[in-house]
Amino acid sequence: MQGVGFRPFVHGVATRLGLGGWVRNVGAAVVIEVEGPRERLDELRVALDRETPALAVVQTIETVDIEPVGRSGFEIVASERGGREPVRVTPDAATCPECLAEIADPDGRRFGYAFTNCTNCGPRFTIVENVPYDRARTTMSSFEMCPACRAEYSDPSDRRFHAQPICCPACGPTLSLVDRAGRSLGSDPVGGAAALLLADKIVAMKGLGGYHLAARARSDEAVGALRTRKRRDDKPFAVMVPDLDGASALCAVDGVAKALLRDAARPIVVMPRRVDSGLASAVAPHTGELGVMLPYTPLHTLIMAATGEPIVLTSANVSDEPIAFRDDEALDRLSGIADAFLVHDRPIRTRTDDSVVRVVAGEPMMLRRSRGYVPTAIRLPVEARRPILACGAELKNTITVAHGDRAVVSHHIGDLKNIETHDSYLDAVEHFERLFRMTPRLVAHDLHPDYLSTAFAQRLRGVDLVPVQHHHAHIAACMVDNEHHEPVIGVAFDGLGYGSDHTLWGGEFLVADLVDFERVASFEPRPLLGGDAAMREPWRMAAAYLIAAGEAEATDVDLIRRQPRWADIVALSRSALAGPTTSSAGRLFDAVAALLGVRDTVNYEGQAAVELEQMVDSHERGAYAASFDGYETFSIRGGELFAAALADLRAGIGVRRIAARFHAGVAGTVIAACVRIREGGGPSTVALSGGVFMNRVLTTSVVTGLDVHGFRVLRHRRVPPNDGGVSLGQAAIAAARDQAGAVTSPTL
Ligand code: ZN
Ligand code: ZN
Ligand code: FE
Repeated sequence: MQGVGFRPFVHGVATRLGLGGWVRNVGAAVVIEVEGPRERLDELRVALDRETPALAVVQTIETVDIEPVGRSGFEIVASERGGREPVRVTPDAATCPECLAEIADPDGRRFGYAFTNCTNCGPRFTIVENVPYDRARTTMSSFEMCPACRAEYSDPSDRRFHAQPICCPACGPTLSLVDRAGRSLGSDPVGGAAALLLADKIVAMKGLGGYHLAARARSDEAVGALRTRKRRDDKPFAVMVPDLDGASALCAVDGVAKALLRDAARPIVVMPRRVDSGLASAVAPHTGELGVMLPYTPLHTLIMAATGEPIVLTSANVSDEPIAFRDDEALDRLSGIADAFLVHDRPIRTRTDDSVVRVVAGEPMMLRRSRGYVPTAIRLPVEARRPILACGAELKNTITVAHGDRAVVSHHIGDLKNIETHDSYLDAVEHFERLFRMTPRLVAHDLHPDYLSTAFAQRLRGVDLVPVQHHHAHIAACMVDNEHHEPVIGVAFDGLGYGSDHTLWGGEFLVADLVDFERVASFEPRPLLGGDAAMREPWRMAAAYLIAAGEAEATDVDLIRRQPRWADIVALSRSALAGPTTSSAGRLFDAVAALLGVRDTVNYEGQAAVELEQMVDSHERGAYAASFDGYETFSIRGGELFAAALADLRAGIGVRRIAARFHAGVAGTVIAACVRIREGGGPSTVALSGGVFMNRVLTTSVVTGLDVHGFRVLRHRRVPPNDGGVSLGQAAIAAARDQAGAVTSPTL
């Protein structure tokens, strides 16, 4: 079993049933020796299945009959010191119903207390400094338990038995509300912060995994000020609401979304927004969706109760910096943004962003896996015989440590180009090796020579390096996500990744298993005119497609007319400095988005594609098509999809219908390519990965179409299809290659 609160739970049930015996941890399991009347023992067995504590996961139960020895009374036997205890650091969990009731009880000693927690809820991963997990090795170590808390902590029948972060107003952390200079703003921090929010001020709030910036979501003034000060031009903000009714007032909440909103992990759930949501338009511009979450700490619960309305809660950072989590740096970095600071004195060990999930074709799809999910282990379909560290990619970076059949993917670290993020990358590697008591022997990394994660891996000594192609890692991540290890057709669509042939890939069809892959098909390459600039300026991709189509002089095309640098880009495309070529599907989406006037430049990664998806007219039934060049291995003429969009634009077809036909065209192309690969002897299972598959419209039609054609479809659920999943795929490939004897020793 995995989780906490299990032994006290067994103690409680056994005592209730009048059974004699004991319970103890043995390795990764719990052993219960118990005696009493047969029907009582059966009742215990049923309770183990049905009443397990919120955070415990029972994998299997085995029973054997032994002779009774006449025990009366039931006890929890302490774990042996020095024994190889399993390392069990669990994710942070949202406040449980019992704790919520205590916070709301005016007669209780935890009335209104913002740090209330118990064995079933509260901070874990974000406060753990080392293992074994106990209070002395958390950021709660400086708070000495008061007698009342110690009594609860020591009582096996109490909900707080061995709850390491246990505390109360007498002994635990305290809240304060301060201004930009650090001066106190009164003795009622929650009431004061709520009043400021209702007065359209911006409040920085210290949460579980970092600081948030909070603003009244209905206020154009507050949200507008937040956007300006944070320099976050268009990226949608998430909103916290008091409860499910609050969520339903803003979004269309289906059953899957409801379960996600309520889950102890409390992710941000991205859902279709109601037109009458009443929110400021600057909350989530250029999109019909909204990310919503429910309160997950007592502090959030108190703030939501005091404001009673939706509050924007966004990671406290400027632009692309990592989320602020240390008190001194927060005051410093956020003083130009926040009007006041709601802070406390419980340090955050590991900054952990909110997780983000979207419901796609009736199933949850993780977009960012962090708080609430990390560090839950994911089962590898192949055993890692040696300890593995997988270094990830570059954007949306995570790392993974793996040994045996367990892989642990880290929190979202972010974009490694940022120096602060790079520091937290190094910290994450050290912290995970410490928490999971692992010294890596195999280190997997991306092929990209310029990624900082690659450079990090190559600096390590005394380890075997396993270079992994980026899109192979994407597909492997999707296979692990589905516990699959047989060969698949891997469809990997993303922004960019370094290919085995030293060109930039991103629209790939691989026949792959966990050891190796063959690149069977890909989109025909187009130049990234101006290199990195083409990533930030989708109009350059549109130019690449227009020029390749012989339309460089087409003055009837609006993009060409409105672009002052058109002559320059045409000249660049004909020069030796045009830039590298790429087969990226993400860049094709960029090109079409710019052609349609959806977006010429972006201020966050993937923005053009996200907004193009939002344009799709769901009633449109037309679809473009792309032909293939070659047979056993083939190139897909993605330019034909672009040309069809251009022809429709010239024919006066509306942008929304074109967006729909384009999406349907890409989906149809994926299906046709998979059919051809299967006809050529390829597998009949398809794995969909890469950031492009975060697109709900595309993924839904691809999944439906592949299903009609008799394919089994693997898609992402627990780990993101974007580069946040790459480290998990790298770890699985390293494990599989090691097993196959395909890892060569380093030349030192
Ligand atoms: Zn609780
Ligand atoms: Zn106390
Ligand atoms: Fe990628």
